[in-house]
Amino acid sequence: MKRLYTSKRHPCPICSNHHGCAIRNDNLIECLRSFNQQDAPAGYRFLALLRNDMGGLFVKDDGSNHQQEKPLYSQQQRHSVKLKKRLSVKKCADMEWLIAQRHRQFQLRVHLSFVG
Ligand SMILES: [Zn+2]
Repeated sequence: MKRLYTSKRHPCPICSNHHGCAIRNDNLIECLRSFNQQDAPAGYRFLALLRNDMGGLFVKDDGSNHQQEKPLYSQQQRHSVKLKKRLSVKKCADMEWLIAQRHRQFQLRVHLSFVG
């Protein structure tokens, strides 16, 4: 992979440093000083950590999705839908348990006030 290393004339678009970072010929940016989306300026997207956590891999986000990521994204979406379904079922069970619990407490209170 060919890299264009940043220089004073071509500073890093992510951290604006002019030493160490590189722009690959597939237009991905290897920044040695930025490690997550928070470090990326507006218009750039964090993709992955570099080898040995040396930095982050960034891409200029011009609104068009990268082809390679699409299948991964839809897979994640499908997964989260399944997870949501499972969660709502659990929520229902929790609600039933809560109602039963409340019911029991109410009965107990009635019982106690009757005794007292
Ligand atoms: Zn940089």
